[in-house]
Amino acid sequence: MAIAEKLKLQNMINGEFVDAADGATEDVINPSTGEVIASSPLSGAEDVNRAVAAAKAAFEGGWATTTPKERSDRLLRLADLIIENGDELTDLETADAGKPRQAFIDEELETTADHIRFFASAARNLEGKAAMEYAEGHTSFVRREPIGVVGQITPWNYPLMMAAWKVGPALATGNTLVLKPAESTPVSTLAILARLCAEAFPPGVANFIGGHGDPAGSTLVRHPDIKLVSLTGSINTGKWIAREAADTLKRVHLELGGKAPVIVFDDVNMETAMETIAGTGLFNAGQDCTAATRILAGPKVYDDVVNGLASEAGGYVMGELDDAATMLGPVNSEKQFQHVTGMIERRPDHAQVATGGGSPDRPGFYVEPTVIADLKQDDELIQNEIFGPVMTVQRFTDEAEAIAWANGTRYGLAASVWTRDIGRAMRVTNALRFGAVWVNDHIIMAPEMPHGGYNESGYGKDMSMYSLEDYTQVKHVMVSLD
Ligand code: NAD
Repeated sequence: MAIAEKLKLQNMINGEFVDAADGATEDVINPSTGEVIASSPLSGAEDVNRAVAAAKAAFEGGWATTTPKERSDRLLRLADLIIENGDELTDLETADAGKPRQAFIDEELETTADHIRFFASAARNLEGKAAMEYAEGHTSFVRREPIGVVGQITPWNYPLMMAAWKVGPALATGNTLVLKPAESTPVSTLAILARLCAEAFPPGVANFIGGHGDPAGSTLVRHPDIKLVSLTGSINTGKWIAREAADTLKRVHLELGGKAPVIVFDDVNMETAMETIAGTGLFNAGQDCTAATRILAGPKVYDDVVNGLASEAGGYVMGELDDAATMLGPVNSEKQFQHVTGMIERRPDHAQVATGGGSPDRPGFYVEPTVIADLKQDDELIQNEIFGPVMTVQRFTDEAEAIAWANGTRYGLAASVWTRDIGRAMRVTNALRFGAVWVNDHIIMAPEMPHGGYNESGYGKDMSMYSLEDYTQVKHVMVSLD
């Protein structure tokens, strides 16, 4: 798709679209062509302070005490607006994040609206402990209350959907927010989501500012009136935020990186497994924290897995984002391109490239779909997140080794187990230290179910009732019956 002219993005504070206080902007690039598609405001401390003040005034001015029905109705309105503005969202998100158009329509647009609808219904269904006379002569009950103004920081791989995962539970539970999208993908958030929120919610309830991690994000994190910071991003940023948040003891909600192991046992149903594993490893050019990236294959099936994945990946069509045949777009930025290709180039001598390994001679940050086999557990390609269209394969000897290798990185977001043996599937699932485990599938999500990590993949859950709990605090009220 072509964006007719360069968009001028602005911050949205207290229901109004405004430039950064000092007028600073930065160009935003389409990663499939290298063309400039927008200019984004570069917010500083003054902008953050204004946005937080607006959110605080809206929280204290009535949003925190709205009824669940009102919050739910407004979220449902937002979901409808997302669908009504679907064409524009598709144009902008695909150009900004480098997503194949059809894949965005099939997998993200309706899903984003559906997740907002889930949060709308969940707003009216918070549950808790029964009110009771737990102490004689006193009735106790629990209130689940909003936390206050929340600061939300999103990544560049699913800009719209990650913003929905943050805005939804925060507003469903009566918080107000200031959200900063990633600097390389601010377009769908600042140009459209902000506009739709201005229509669906009172001024100040949801505020959106552009800018870099520092100073915009860091000022948000340090602001004393922010009571919870929610980040989807890298482990390093998560650790920095957790340290900074300690000064004001604000709450922290972190969805960080992943390195999902995919354990393929010898009794796997090969006919369906390879297509699904390759599909979920390469979707969104592998830029998914739950991507099926780290395949561990049993001794008998190993060669078939390497060949099967290479054959699937080799059939992936790279190309223009508007072409319905395109299955693989570029990675998101030059920085990410250098990161992914650098990891491929630094592979050890024992590694075997079964397919791919290079980048096509064309504009944009495209990386070939790649399968690298014969890797060892200590290799960088196994231990560190690649976040590109690259799948690795290791050969394990038995169940214990598969579990040890699967658990043997600092991550813990998602994993999958592939076997026809139900006992083994359950045993291995129980032993895996990950926040989500699929059996004979990978990556499928449901808004009713939680998403979030173990270990250095972070803490705090997105989606599900668990996310609403993370955005609330519990108050015990005890009333004397005298
Ligand atoms: P990043 O941490 O550099 O940036 C993420 C966001 O944090 C951006 O908006 C950035 O501006 C902001 N940021 C950076 N430094 C900051 C600071 N000091 N203070 C406040 N904000 C700051 O990460 P990235 O490289 O842009 O994103 C990719 C990472 O996100 C990957 O590691 C990926 O696994 C992870 N991710 C995780 C999930 C999940 O659900 N667990 C989902 C998507 C992406």
